Amino acid sequence: MTNSRISGFYNMTLDERRAQLAEALLSPSGAPLTPEDLSAWTTGGLSPEAANHMIENVIGLHSLPLGIALNFQVNGRDVLVPMAIEEPSVVAGASFMAKLARAGGGFTATTTDPLMIGQMQVINVANLHEAKLKLYEHKAELLSEADTIDPVLKKFGGGARDLEVRIIEDSPIGGFLVVHLIYDVRDAMGANAVNTACERLAPRVEAITGGKVHLRILSNLADRRIARARCTIPVKELEFMGADGVRTYAGEEVRDGIIAAYAFAAADPYRAATHNKGIMNGVDAVVIATGNDWRAIEAGAHAYAARSGKYTSLSTWNMGADGNLVGTLEMPMAVGIIGGATKVHPAAQAAVKLMGVKTASELAEIIASVGLAQNMAALRALATEGIQRGHMSLHARQVAIAAGATGDFIEKVAAQMVVEKVVRIDRAEEILKGMK
Ligand code: NAD
Repeated sequence: MTNSRISGFYNMTLDERRAQLAEALLSPSGAPLTPEDLSAWTTGGLSPEAANHMIENVIGLHSLPLGIALNFQVNGRDVLVPMAIEEPSVVAGASFMAKLARAGGGFTATTTDPLMIGQMQVINVANLHEAKLKLYEHKAELLSEADTIDPVLKKFGGGARDLEVRIIEDSPIGGFLVVHLIYDVRDAMGANAVNTACERLAPRVEAITGGKVHLRILSNLADRRIARARCTIPVKELEFMGADGVRTYAGEEVRDGIIAAYAFAAADPYRAATHNKGIMNGVDAVVIATGNDWRAIEAGAHAYAARSGKYTSLSTWNMGADGNLVGTLEMPMAVGIIGGATKVHPAAQAAVKLMGVKTASELAEIIASVGLAQNMAALRALATEGIQRGHMSLHARQVAIAAGATGDFIEKVAAQMVVEKVVRIDRAEEILKGMK
């Protein structure tokens, strides 16, 4: 079994961290990382030749830092989480909150069946109500036809599950029908199977309704494919000493501050957008590290957050039994471990292997847990000493690099700016000049 607690990871060199990673996975029941897996991260994994087959007009590659979030325990299992992200503080924040959550039993996460929705827009229909009922009369036949499009998916237990018909009464082109095909895509993200199934059904739908099937495409509002995660943070774990070394924040104070911060997001879309962005800091980083489509996840998350007609928080934070802090997150999670870039990107394959996930649902459960941890990291900082204090020292390093610092100068210039509380590129350049 993997041990996700590696002490001193933060202070190790890159090589030491890679060695520790391989060691953390070396156990009788684990799947140890191979040198090829580790080198996929050292080199970025993808060759320009492979990239040339993925998109158009390729001229090269674009890299991102890949960090490992520690301390995660999801459904009783330790997991080391790969995160690809350019923003400082995210990996550290997730790791620290996972440590606090661990004290309360870690994260408990579940998923629905991996059901995606394919949409068909049926226009030029003479009688919408009649056509809707006719489609339901042919539901079994339509589902059995859709079921045949992907024998591989069928073999793994996937296939067409349901058909729903909606009437849009009023639109800029008047009324039309929307047919939803509900498709179980198992361990795939599923866009290809669903789009193919919709295209296959279109002629039959036209014959049944007398209309014309216009669009045939997956919906990214994947509200049938939900991941849920929850955690309990013992209130005593929330106590901490501020970065100034003077102010101590009591556990109850931090808990109530986090709950009040959540209430702001629950009630106000302007705050909810930033609150959910914090969740997506964690979610997207794992989605990208595993080669999944983060635009699909982003689109689904925000559409789901607005499903009541008012944009709101994807998470909740409240007081539980014994005064502990309880957090929950619920969001669509259309990720796969088969197909798309996951299959062709060696670093994405290594990421899936590192987490030891065998199904897309397991991956979705880990991602939701990371989103919840990341959300709490931001709320804890905002509800106490503010986000900038913790963020600044990491941000200062980026500013130092941007000012031209290299090697030891990066830390020295960054430290000086933090002491001065002036983290700006012009000041970094001055400090660097002085030091040289
Ligand atoms: P894919 O078609 O490459 O692979 C999925 C296929 O793998 C399945 O259809 C099945 O035939 C096979 N398979 C083998 N083992 C399986 C298992 N255990 N479970 C399920 N399937 C298994 O992959 P995909 O998931 O359709 O690809 C998704 C990609 O499509 C994403 O990367 C996305 O960028 C892109 N896309 C997205 C949208 C959108 O979000 N609106 C639209 C079009 C395309």
